[in-house]
Amino acid sequence: MPPLNKHKFAINLAAVLFFFCILSVHAAPENTIVYATRTGKAYHREDCSALSRSKEAITLGEAARRSLSACSLCQPPLLNAGAAAKIARSTDAGIYRVNIENVNSYKNADTQKMLRARVSRHIDGDTVELEFAAPPAGFNRAEKIRMIGVDTPETVHPQKDVEFFGREASDFTKKMLLGKDVYVALDWDTRDKYGRLLVYIYTAQGVCHNAELIRQGYAHAYTRFPFRFMDEFRILEQEARAKKRGLWEY
Ligand SMILES: [Zn+2]
Repeated sequence: MPPLNKHKFAINLAAVLFFFCILSVHAAPENTIVYATRTGKAYHREDCSALSRSKEAITLGEAARRSLSACSLCQPPLLNAGAAAKIARSTDAGIYRVNIENVNSYKNADTQKMLRARVSRHIDGDTVELEFAAPPAGFNRAEKIRMIGVDTPETVHPQKDVEFFGREASDFTKKMLLGKDVYVALDWDTRDKYGRLLVYIYTAQGVCHNAELIRQGYAHAYTRFPFRFMDEFRILEQEARAKKRGLWEY
């Protein structure tokens, strides 16, 4: 081996070892003790200055179940990936995700496995407020939701005029959903950047309201983010356009 390559090899080896050191320092098992405060959203090492007011010893597993993040000041150990995945699955209990269940069509989702809720407030065509009968871990009893895969014209945006056909879309959702008991399914992402739950809403009759909005021409298929039924929703929009329904009538 020429001297230059030997030198390179040593540098690479050092880099790899350094990386493994970092991993082994940070990835710890579930029973590792860390510290939390009564109200904070982070967990800490024992000597962190953030613990001056209150301090509770908990396991790393418990920190993950409480969705606490690692303090950026004291940089406590991180839970290893296997244990983190196991906890993520268990905290998902009671939530029906069409991606995990491998549901092949929006028509074949199983409402009996979904969360039950009542539509307590109507906001616009693709946004309502739900009240969950038994909210699962991480959900509030009342949640503002955004329907997955649809985009109805705006009606309540403070900086925009009522967009064409927005009123009709909004009235349709109000008529079909307000005050009704519904079934709720999720997909890849639980919330959007505004903290709204991202859901499919199924009526008591098993009709997917998201799909119905597009099928009847009240909404576009919103395909900026991937979701399980994207291909089907695209086809529903093409059919609505071809038949000049709703939005596409004029
Ligand atoms: Zn800390």
